[in-house]
Order: sequence, then C-alpha cells, then structure tokens
Amino acid sequence: MKFFDSLIDTVSDLFSSLEQKSFDKGEPWKDAGTNQVIMRRDTACELEGTGFNLVTSREISDGITVIGDDLGDIKDNRSFARISIVQIEDIGDEQKSYNLIKKIEYVKYHCFPDGFMMRSTSRSHKEAVRVSKTAVKNGIDFRSVGSLLINKYKENPAVKGVRILFITHPLANYEAAEKAACRNSEIAETLNHIMNSINFDCDTCNLKAICDEVEGMKELHFKRTN
Ligand code: SF4
Repeated sequence: MKFFDSLIDTVSDLFSSLEQKSFDKGEPWKDAGTNQVIMRRDTACELEGTGFNLVTSREISDGITVIGDDLGDIKDNRSFARISIVQIEDIGDEQKSYNLIKKIEYVKYHCFPDGFMMRSTSRSHKEAVRVSKTAVKNGIDFRSVGSLLINKYKENPAVKGVRILFITHPLANYEAAEKAACRNSEIAETLNHIMNSINFDCDTCNLKAICDEVEGMKELHFKRTN
C-alpha cells in the first residue's frame, strides 16, 4: 500500500520546523470502556481540529510525537490535529488493503481514554477533544493516550506499527493539515471507486485529478478491468 506515501511525506514536512518531542509507546492511559460525557464545568481544555489516519506499508515504529504543548500545559482551548501513520502488512491484494483501511478508520470509535472525550463523525475528518480536570490532575498526557490508541490499532494483527502525531502548537499550519485530510479522503474515495467500478473512461471520470497525481492508481484500475 503506497497510495498515501507522498501525503505522509507532505505531512512530515508540514511540521518539521516546529519543536517536537518523540516518545516510544509507553504505559497506556486507562480505557473507560465506553463513551463518556464531560460537562463544561469539569473541562480543563478543549481541542478542536482535524484527525485522520494515513496508511502505508513502509516500516513505522510504534511511538508518539507531540508538536506543541502537552495536555498538562494547555490552559486554554486550542486548535489541534491528530495524525496516525499506520503501517499495515503488505497484503498485495488491493481489495483487502482497502477493507483494512476502512477497519482502521473505525478504531477511534472504540477507544475511550478516561477523561479524554473524542468526538468525530464517520463522514468527516473533523475531530474535537474535551479533556477533564480530573484527568489532568491524574497526569494524562499525549504519550499515554497515544499508547492506548496504538494498542487499539494493533488489536488488528495486520497492523504492524503506528506513529501518532498530536499537534497543538499555535504556529502549526492547521489549514494545511485539513487540506491533507481532504486529500487523504479523496484518495480513499478513488480507491473505493476503482474497487467497485467496471467503467473505465478517464476522460469523463471526476477522479482523474487524483489518478493523475497518485502513482499506481490508473494501473490498478486497468488491472481490475482487464
Ligand atoms: S483510472 Fe481513470 S476511470 Fe479509474 S478512477 Fe482513475 S480517472 Fe477514473
């Protein structure tokens, strides 16, 4: 799976000039096991922005990268981005890889870090987080939340490595992060079209711009229609 690799490079470049801290996967934060509601009066901070996964077969070692303040240091509401770079085994079957991408997409709906309420919708890459005062008092940080999330991704044996970027830096380019999230969705949508379509007419196809840009897309559609 290499269709998202150039986007991974783009995203890595986006934040390379900002100070960042990287951690190995550590002790996971407690999983509340179910959806929680954190009331406004119990809220330490709210983070609002973009969250998405980039799937690859490149080797990725488990870890967490924090660009900007960690949870205990955030005193106000912030713009935010969460980008998970997920290594899957090279299955060599695009249909199976595509199904795997969809499964990976749903991991975030089954992860409930205690005192860290994540909200997002399945049709959008918008992601918002509310962090409770109690969780901050108990030492919640991105490393422990990320470690829990990595464990959830890796419940699927086809997931081999995960690096999660948490971005809260005031100077980060969140607009560009959102654009990358949109491009990620477009590539996934094009893959879906290729998997399900028997029509092959690039001149009239509204996905042509993506196929012209992402190496291997057209070849994949040719392969499936021959
Ligand atoms: S290969 Fe051509 S027909 Fe297939 S999705 Fe891409 S542009 Fe459309």
